[in-house]
Amino acid sequence: MDAGLFGGTFNPLHNGHIGIIKYVKQAFHLQKIFLFPSATPPHKSAIDLAPIQDRLDMVRAGVAELDGFYTSDVELKRKGPSFTIDTINDFKRSPFETISQSPPNFFLLMGSDAFFDITTWKNQELIFKAIPIIVMLRGERTGIAPIASFIDEHISKGYKLNIRQKKFTHEQMQPVHICNVPKIDISSTMIRERVKANRSIKELVPANVENIIKKKDLYK
Ligand code: ATP
Repeated sequence: MDAGLFGGTFNPLHNGHIGIIKYVKQAFHLQKIFLFPSATPPHKSAIDLAPIQDRLDMVRAGVAELDGFYTSDVELKRKGPSFTIDTINDFKRSPFETISQSPPNFFLLMGSDAFFDITTWKNQELIFKAIPIIVMLRGERTGIAPIASFIDEHISKGYKLNIRQKKFTHEQMQPVHICNVPKIDISSTMIRERVKANRSIKELVPANVENIIKKKDLYK
């Protein structure tokens, strides 16, 4: 079974997240995608950060009716900042019978902005050794070229690009795949700003997420 792991602050989950993961699930024939909200995101400021339990509830409610999407609270259970390498290892170590009939092949999904930030992540080299990555490009006109130079300069000179397959391969590291996802102009920042300004967020987040934001009075 092929499964995607998609981490984020999800402050809150929005239709941009949902649109891209639906697209990647189909494009890479992933049977399942696990979304894991970061408990204490090391890269984002805590201003306007909704409590982890509320962000988790919003993710859970937002994907509840979608087939093949699951929410994981692994980062909620760990203390301290959430590091992706620890989460990958938690997924790999957990008994596969709890999620599938055979040991899953995991893929780490990330937006290009997160990918370009990866040099600041803990144990980035271990991440590239541990798990194939799918980088989601949102219609950037520059295409793969900036990713190729970034990998060459900051990750390893040993990666080779197969342009037809949009895939970087390496003898000691896991592949990095590129997926061109539809451009959806929604961000969590935009949602928080609209809520603060009493503007509608309908069509931008799933209805269940909007209900939680209202009920819990988040982002005011
Ligand atoms: P914020 O506006 O608070 O910075 P965000 O909308 O980027 O948040 P995150 O939870 O930080 O949301 O994003 C998790 C991942 O989803 C990141 O890898 C990011 O690149 C990706 N992502 C977020 N919004 C979109 C979108 N509209 N299209 C494609 N990828 C997205």
